[in-house]
Amino acid sequence: MASETHIVLGTCHHDCPDSCGWEVSVENGVAVKLRGNSEHPFSQGELCPKVNRFLERVYSPERILYPLARTGPKGSGEFRQITWEEALGLVAERVHSVINDFGGEAVMPWGSAGTQGLIQMNSLDRRFFTKIGSSRQVDSLCGATAKVGASLTLGSPLSSDPMDIEFSQLILLWGTNTRLANRHLWPFIEKARSRGAKVVVIDPLRTMTAESADVFVQPLPGTDVALMLAMMHILIRDNLVDHDYLEKYTDGFDELSVQVAQWTPLRAAQVCGISVDDIESLAHDYGTIRPSFIRTLIGAEHRQHGAMFFRTLSCLPMLVGAWREKGGGFARSVGSYAAVNVDDSVFTVDSLSAGQERRPLSMNEIGQVLNDENLDPTVKALFVYNGNPLVTAPNAELIRRGLEREDLFTVVSEQFMTDTARYADVIFPACTQIEQVDVVPAWGHLYLGWNEKAIE
Ligand code: SF4
Repeated sequence: MASETHIVLGTCHHDCPDSCGWEVSVENGVAVKLRGNSEHPFSQGELCPKVNRFLERVYSPERILYPLARTGPKGSGEFRQITWEEALGLVAERVHSVINDFGGEAVMPWGSAGTQGLIQMNSLDRRFFTKIGSSRQVDSLCGATAKVGASLTLGSPLSSDPMDIEFSQLILLWGTNTRLANRHLWPFIEKARSRGAKVVVIDPLRTMTAESADVFVQPLPGTDVALMLAMMHILIRDNLVDHDYLEKYTDGFDELSVQVAQWTPLRAAQVCGISVDDIESLAHDYGTIRPSFIRTLIGAEHRQHGAMFFRTLSCLPMLVGAWREKGGGFARSVGSYAAVNVDDSVFTVDSLSAGQERRPLSMNEIGQVLNDENLDPTVKALFVYNGNPLVTAPNAELIRRGLEREDLFTVVSEQFMTDTARYADVIFPACTQIEQVDVVPAWGHLYLGWNEKAIE
């Protein structure tokens, strides 16, 4: 019989700003090729070295394909294959018993962004855990820092459309290695460049993006905010601010002026380890070239005082009125647009919780939570899905100690035997992106991506 090939369109699931569009060639039920979708407005036909070989992951002999029950000590990785009925029965029995003995809040959900889609990441889990009255996960890894910091200045977590960068004449790539970590934005920057735009990279590391810049400014790690304050000092000192914009659309300018008066270029130069001339030149470019676009991403939100980085950086476009023009402004993660434009309230059904407030538990503090004997109730059952907290959450040894507890029942949904999965009592096999339907909201552009299931 002649083989039949058809193409299925999808969207990359990774926690990456680009959310690339792809197409999967399927031959007799087998995915034989995966490549970028040339019609995708942002990724335009290219994926990346990691995902170009995604089918090797899908068909890896190391995939978990069946439910597993633990047979050895926790962490040993010793399991036996069981049926779905057996696995579901075991989990239902243990979780019922935890709820009966200790209450629903003794159950802790922990889910991250391993597969970043509305359905797989952030929907039915909310319904399920609301229904059983579990503790409520507080999503606090990384993104909340930037969101809070930028919102303190802008009054909203929203920022410019990154694709508008192509209309800019001055591009500041601040603490972001665009060519590697947001690679599909680079062609838009090159377009701006072909129209005369100047590209400045500000980064403590000499990255491959820095190598491609017109100007590279290298402050010492953790000193970016001093540089921003000195830039504001110069903009105000040299009357390069947009007074009309400040008066109409902002408040607090006088208080800000008092604060930044202390941040002379000399003081910042000493703190940042760069020259006064470089700071003066950067501030003057920013105060005179229009439109100007500041692009930052997630680097700083992984650092102590990260929120202040975003809070301070987002003052700069206010001072020069950069928001006035297309190609001007400030862009960080634009994931918040999905929260505004996608009505996912269907997934949070208040009636399921019967009006009960559920105990909030921070996903960052899973180690502390699992070891806290004073919690009332202590956590007795843990569901981990879409993530690997033993590797990605802070304080791995504390988490490991928690996962080793004999009185903790742990359920993990996974594609592979991860460090966390080795501590599970029951593991359910998880699909890869080409085996499931989803809608993927991007955080590096404003398109929603449809993901069609390509294979079983
Ligand atoms: S660049 Fe990001 S979104 Fe695009 S294929 Fe690679 S991981 Fe996926």
